[in-house]
Amino acid sequence: MSELSVFEGAMKYFDEAVERLGLDPPAIESIKRPRRTIIVNLPIRMDDGRVRVFEGYRVQHSIGRGPGKGGVRFHPDVDLDEVTALAFWMTWKCAVVNIPFGGAKGGVKCDPAQFSRNELERLTRRWTAELYELLGPDSDVPAPDVNTDAQTMAWIMDTYSMHARKQVTGVVTGKPIELGGSLGRREATGRGVLICIREAARRQGISLEGARVSIQGFGNVGGVAAELLHRSGAVIVAVSDVNGGIVNPEGIDFPALREHVQGARTVAGFEGGKVCEPAEVLEVACDILVPAALDNVIHGGNADRIQARLVAEGANGPIAPEADEILTAKGITVIPDILCNAGGVTVSYFEWVQNRMGWFWTEEEVNDRLERIMVRAFDDVWTTAAEHGTSLRMAAYMLAIKRVLDVHRMRGLYA
Ligand code: NAD
Repeated sequence: MSELSVFEGAMKYFDEAVERLGLDPPAIESIKRPRRTIIVNLPIRMDDGRVRVFEGYRVQHSIGRGPGKGGVRFHPDVDLDEVTALAFWMTWKCAVVNIPFGGAKGGVKCDPAQFSRNELERLTRRWTAELYELLGPDSDVPAPDVNTDAQTMAWIMDTYSMHARKQVTGVVTGKPIELGGSLGRREATGRGVLICIREAARRQGISLEGARVSIQGFGNVGGVAAELLHRSGAVIVAVSDVNGGIVNPEGIDFPALREHVQGARTVAGFEGGKVCEPAEVLEVACDILVPAALDNVIHGGNADRIQARLVAEGANGPIAPEADEILTAKGITVIPDILCNAGGVTVSYFEWVQNRMGWFWTEEEVNDRLERIMVRAFDDVWTTAAEHGTSLRMAAYMLAIKRVLDVHRMRGLYA
């Protein structure tokens, strides 16, 4: 399913939060619409000598709280609607963890699987050059997203720096460590997921020691969350990735699974449990469920069968809105994506800070600061939910909207 359906969910939560906050429509109009929307046409010389033109985008949804922040995605389905939706989402994610960034997103409509490395480099550099005036450490800071990575960020940084006639590392985050990337960035989202789970579990009287955990997705988010949960004493009873799933109610031998994945690059084929379909891990008996793969995997058709007491949204939008209501009615606590997976953007903020200072932190310093920000954000959301008698998701939206509106009010209207 496309992320646009996830966006429709986000819009639904946004509208409900606005209503609960009792906000009047003119105030909302200014924070609902994107601040800037740019479409660029990118003529690229392909390796065979032909010139092809690709459409590129950058949307700055909000820059009231700080520079725009958000990834750049290369994908055939990218269009202005999707980029606008994802920029809108970044605004609330950055506000929930209270980092000084607004929301932005960018992309190019293309199929990068058909590109050579040289073609990809030319596309990335042309996108950057076309958007040069809009980007910058004080205005808009891209990051990797679908089909873009640390190498893409290195090309953006280099192109931007060539135009600026000086080294500007803080124009992007998610760079290679050698070029000013931050230690701890790769693990940051999974680490943030763990911190949120620990905080929620503590408040609900669930001990992580011995808690039974099921995880969908074993990549950057799910794999790291699984490792950290295992180290915290949790018992992993089920895991899956795109190739298959493993269930073992007695607890999976995690070191053996880790070794298997290191060799096979997938959890499929691991012999320490019963083989299952990738989606079955969502419905196993467990205390904590971490959907960390795809959007809309918990929907009206399976929400009733979810047995966990706590669901931590590692992925963006894994619970469809109709399922959210079912889980809430069942008394299941959901840690919403805009809080739960915000550890990644938080360490992106640290990368930007380190670049501006020219002073780099140890991994321990990064992790300590991430811990402080995530614990504070979790506490803010928990307290807001208690004050208003809402779910954690509604509280996260209410908190984020209020933070964005507050800066708009303080800054006033320049007109
Ligand atoms: P990834 O590509 O590293 O890993 C994705 C994992 O999901 C892989 O193990 C893959 O095999 C698995 N998967 C794919 N289809 C599946 C299926 N049908 N059933 C079960 N597993 C399946 O990606 P990631 O970086 O871990 O991101 C996962 C999710 O988290 C995405 O929704 C992403 O947008 C979101 N997210 C990631 C970050 C980050 O910093 N990486 C930050 C915020 C949100």
